Amino acid sequence: MTVELLKELIAIPSVNPEHTDDAAIANEYRLAVFLSAWLSERGFAVEYDAVGDLRGNVIGRYGPAQADYTILFAAHLDTVGIDGMTIDPFKPVIKDGRCYGRGACDMKGALAAALTALDQPGLLASLADSGIAVWVVGAYGEETGNIGAQRLAEQGLAADAAVVLEPTRGAIVHATKGALWVAVTLYGQGGHGSNPAQGCNAILAALRLIPWLQTAWLESGGETDAPPDITTMGPGTVNIGRIQGGNAINIIAPQCRLEIDRRLVPGESPDQILAALDQQLQALCAEGHATGYDVEVLKLGPAFATPIHAQLVADLQQALQTVTGEAVLDTAAWHSDAGALSRTCREVVVFGPGDIAQAHTPDEFIDLHALEQGTAILRAYLETVCARRGPGAGGAIP
Ligand SMILES: [Zn+2]
Repeated sequence: MTVELLKELIAIPSVNPEHTDDAAIANEYRLAVFLSAWLSERGFAVEYDAVGDLRGNVIGRYGPAQADYTILFAAHLDTVGIDGMTIDPFKPVIKDGRCYGRGACDMKGALAAALTALDQPGLLASLADSGIAVWVVGAYGEETGNIGAQRLAEQGLAADAAVVLEPTRGAIVHATKGALWVAVTLYGQGGHGSNPAQGCNAILAALRLIPWLQTAWLESGGETDAPPDITTMGPGTVNIGRIQGGNAINIIAPQCRLEIDRRLVPGESPDQILAALDQQLQALCAEGHATGYDVEVLKLGPAFATPIHAQLVADLQQALQTVTGEAVLDTAAWHSDAGALSRTCREVVVFGPGDIAQAHTPDEFIDLHALEQGTAILRAYLETVCARRGPGAGGAIP
């Protein structure tokens, strides 16, 4: 039963250290130790890539070193913090067909489903006999900047088919937006508020910048090379989430800082978008509206899009059909480790039981039926790939 493993995972605190000051629950290492042992016991070769004492990535590999085909299940180890929670975060409770606890939905549920799917006598061995390797990754630091997955991509972790485990309500999410977070500080010239013409007001410079951010900047990402089947995703967006400027009512504002969340669609170039911003800021200075500026990139996570005819999508669709009778494809505006892993993995999707609406909530839960169904789908997916490639045939059976 997947739920028994899920309860074990919930009981192991793995709160992202940027979300808590409590050393008793902070960092991912406890869960990394558990996952490493779980994988080792089932014959995986496990590597722990420590980043400091308390954080790191777990990489488990099963099957041939020179595999014909590599399947990656990628989970993140961290959860968000527990402030304001109305349930006990680390004492899982089963009630009304749900399992409650921090991480139940995002995303220990999907991890439990994937591990339980793998934990079928003979399945890993038959996959290996068919030339298929199965890798399981537990990445740290997803909730704050996808740093674990970025590290894995920089190290060149390359699978043919990567299933990023997140709650998608059982839909195959084959494309998501990327996120570029920037802080722009505009500088002016302070002075007495009774004589504004004598200074240079940075707040007024920000007011000139904002309309441009919401129009021309949205067009600056270049021609997208995204597949035509992701039109449901909608365009890139800009949200100005925070603005802070000036020192006092009777002083000409010498600086103004804006924090901006630019969401990218697949194919948009973050470099081009940042270059356009720089050019616009230079123009503001040249026209005398500001005396200088700083741009700080707070986060950059790429978008990704896997075509709907990709092998991974087809195999997962077949598994969904087998288990539920329908296969739903979707795209998403939210960001996950899939963006980073798409840089090195050939085909990527996000998939898992649970609803993103229950992620990060004070009473986080996952529906138990969805959890067990997610397990059945992931197991059917592995069986589908195995059957397609055939035992010992190195892919001879189509
Ligand atoms: Zn997540």
